[in-house]
Amino acid sequence: MRHYDRVALIGLGLIASSMAHAIRDNGLAGEIVGHAKSAETRATALEIGLVDRVCDTAAEAVAGADLVVLCVPVGAMDAIAAEIAPHLAPGATVTDVGSVKQAVVKAVAPHMPAHVQFIPGHPLAGTEHSGPRSGFATLFVNRWWLLTPLEGNDPAAVARLRGMIEAMGANVEEMDLVHHDLVLAVTSHTPHLIAYTMVGVADHMRRVTHEEVIKYSASGFRDFTRIAASDPTMWRDVFLTNKEAVLDVLGRFAEELFVLQRAIRMGDGDMLFDYFTRTRAIRRGIIEAGQDTSAPDFGRGAPVPPPKPETE
Ligand code: NAP
Repeated sequence: MRHYDRVALIGLGLIASSMAHAIRDNGLAGEIVGHAKSAETRATALEIGLVDRVCDTAAEAVAGADLVVLCVPVGAMDAIAAEIAPHLAPGATVTDVGSVKQAVVKAVAPHMPAHVQFIPGHPLAGTEHSGPRSGFATLFVNRWWLLTPLEGNDPAAVARLRGMIEAMGANVEEMDLVHHDLVLAVTSHTPHLIAYTMVGVADHMRRVTHEEVIKYSASGFRDFTRIAASDPTMWRDVFLTNKEAVLDVLGRFAEELFVLQRAIRMGDGDMLFDYFTRTRAIRRGIIEAGQDTSAPDFGRGAPVPPPKPETE
């Protein structure tokens, strides 16, 4: 069922390309228009037929669109909002997919004309891949998509946006901006920082050579490296803009780390056992909530050995 006549995707990376596939596969829009910063990404989007039309400017892309989705890194939202504002159609809905909500609202809302509805959002779905080729239609299926409506948003516009997101397979929940940023600092932002740190530590440990780290990477480290391969621009912006919540959670993390460090030093096996039993229950809860698979090793198959060098 068609939810919008023309959807404009600004930014054509992982999230936008997944939306383009999901919207097209489910017939949710009459036309999908796209814009990305670089000529290279725009050319790729054209080549793979990601959207119906690719525009050289964001202003051109939003003209006549009844839904505009800002799918750029959080740090780019301000400039994009300023550029598109004079070209937005009366009655259009503007939403975003940024991983931080307070900073996006601060950057975008002041530019929005009174005749559009700006309804911030955030899909809790992603991979470590980026760019226009990385998207797939099922990325949002059974994932949460948080909307953080603003005071004065028209309930009908919110319901219409919610309808399209649900039609892409996601579960929608509404949340307050500040609460969103704290929840995400715990569930996503700080874990990413820890992964970046652990991979950084391994990199610095010259005693364990680079080759050994790669060769013997067991699941724990391997999973950290997957997370730490995420897009540097996006994650730089997340930490710069969700500073307070991340620093709050990091403080708590450091305290817990000291508690565990002490238990290890004191040989307090009971404490470690109880702690790990509690954390195991959290993992079970995530699987029961359908947010991950219980397949061993995260459902991965056996590793594929690297190709042997060709010999002439
Ligand atoms: P991505 O794959 O790295 O794509 C980012 C896109 O934004 C690229 O097409 C890039 O264009 C474009 N862009 C950057 N600056 C721009 C500008 N000034 N004007 C126009 N286009 C610009 O990123 P993504 O993973 O889709 O993330 C997009 C947003 O979704 C971010 O705000 C992120 O916080 C949020 N998010 C990401 C995830 C995730 O796991 N990846 C999950 C939920 C939400 P070029 O290719 O030409 O540089």
